[in-house]
Amino acid sequence: MTRSEELFARALERIPGGVNSPVRAFGGVGGEPFFVQRGEGQFIWDVDGRQLLDYVQSWGASILGHANPAVIEAVQQAAVNGTSFGIPTEREVLLAEAIIERVPHVEMVRCVSSGTEAAMTALRLARGVTGRKKVIKFIGNYHGHLDALLVAAGSGLATLGMPGSAGVTDGAIEDTILVPYNDLEALDAVLDQHGGIAAILVEPVAANMGLVPPAEGFLEGLRDRCDLMGALLVFDEVITGFRLGVSGAQGFYDVRPDVTVFGKIVGGGLPLACVGASRTVMEFLAPVGPVYQAGTLSGNPLATAAGLAVLNQLDDDLYNGIATKVERLAEGLRSAAEFAGVDIQVPVVGTLMGLFFSAEPVTNYEQAQAAKTERYSTFFHGLLDQGVYLAPSGFETTFVSAAHTDDDIDRTITAAAKVFATLA
Ligand code: PLP
Repeated sequence: MTRSEELFARALERIPGGVNSPVRAFGGVGGEPFFVQRGEGQFIWDVDGRQLLDYVQSWGASILGHANPAVIEAVQQAAVNGTSFGIPTEREVLLAEAIIERVPHVEMVRCVSSGTEAAMTALRLARGVTGRKKVIKFIGNYHGHLDALLVAAGSGLATLGMPGSAGVTDGAIEDTILVPYNDLEALDAVLDQHGGIAAILVEPVAANMGLVPPAEGFLEGLRDRCDLMGALLVFDEVITGFRLGVSGAQGFYDVRPDVTVFGKIVGGGLPLACVGASRTVMEFLAPVGPVYQAGTLSGNPLATAAGLAVLNQLDDDLYNGIATKVERLAEGLRSAAEFAGVDIQVPVVGTLMGLFFSAEPVTNYEQAQAAKTERYSTFFHGLLDQGVYLAPSGFETTFVSAAHTDDDIDRTITAAAKVFATLA
């Protein structure tokens, strides 16, 4: 028995499914998860000493690679002075300033501890600001596990094939209106039926049903409709924020959201996320305004230290470097698959990459589901056997970090070519 097997057996007795987040259980690809001992840069090592080239990178939370020296130092220095006070600390101001400097449509931020909490806050804020209840959510977009948005969601629900969750009341989702991603016509039809929309929530690049880029004009179309209706446009940039560039998807596509949700990278691998918007919108939050929101660990000293240490290292060179490696990987995979006679799509948006076993480009959740065949599981395990770790679900995104090298990319392509040959 390996150490991972032993730990998983024990975990199954004490933790539901043996994991603290469903997708980690490998249900999407079969087999058992391994347990990680440590990470460094582009690599992780499991408890049995196996080295893996990691393309999950904490689901995109780590853009610099694991155990980045500046981040470790910042967290260590912060920890010496105490881990939580529930009293304002200087780095909360510094982090807010750092975000506002970098992201064009954010004038104020409020920190929380997870992307779920940030999305929940954004939703409550949009309803509080507009005094309306209904919100538009796109099918296959994932905004965390808050009740109102846990319907037709991507990510782990897509992996498990669950349309929603037990325990969520009809009441909690009756004001959530579902629309297919990238479909402005369907949106217009829905808007004709429903007045009083508080917000349109969107992943500006859908990255929880595999990677699905926004169709040309889609994000601009959402902006126009929000302007017409007096609704707020909420960009969930938990994945795209500080990933597509320091200004996120809003800078990348030059479209203005009213509210932005950040997570993952902004916390430098520690539990921190935030909501940002104009001063007018943000001052609806308590204690200034009537929308209540709070958190014991919000703006935590270690998390703000990690977040700042990451944001301070992000610049155009870093993003260009990652984007070049992503393009190299995408091109290599496309050629290897073509050579083997396997149909794949490798969508790329800047530093983000996806992979579908499909002959046609994927533009929405229905197509994403159709593209998810057994082939992904075979591909996943084929690469894992060769020391390359992709997301254990075909409904996720591939995260190349700044630490990945051209050699890593080439090794991945060679490994993939071997698996494609078996899939042909
Ligand atoms: N929004 C998006 C776009 C996400 O990808 C995620 C998580 O993957 C969330 C929200 C929820 O964030 P968290 O897992 O930190 O609660």
